[in-house]
Amino acid sequence: MEEKTKRVCRKCLTKDMDQAVYFENLHNYIKNLDEDLKVGQSVYDTRLAVCKQCDLLADGMCRACGCFVELRAIMWKNACPYDKWHAETMEEIK
Ligand code: SF4
Repeated sequence: MEEKTKRVCRKCLTKDMDQAVYFENLHNYIKNLDEDLKVGQSVYDTRLAVCKQCDLLADGMCRACGCFVELRAIMWKNACPYDKWHAETMEEIK
């Protein structure tokens, strides 16, 4: 049986994309990032728990920096623009 795959245009603007496909792409992008760039699951969960309580979170985006918080929070070098969670050091992630 032929497996059907959904083709996604990599040059589309978000306004031209199906929202579910867009978010699936975002989650796949996060999943496939180099592990050396990412924090561990507990730090990630802690960061996102802070974002979920923050008044600046809207539709998955931080209104302070314009980032999708799930993408911002996965990278060890990133920090919250309002210091609600901080960047990790190389020693902390090792
Ligand atoms: S990154 Fe900081 S300012 Fe932005 S939503 Fe998260 S906690 Fe709030």
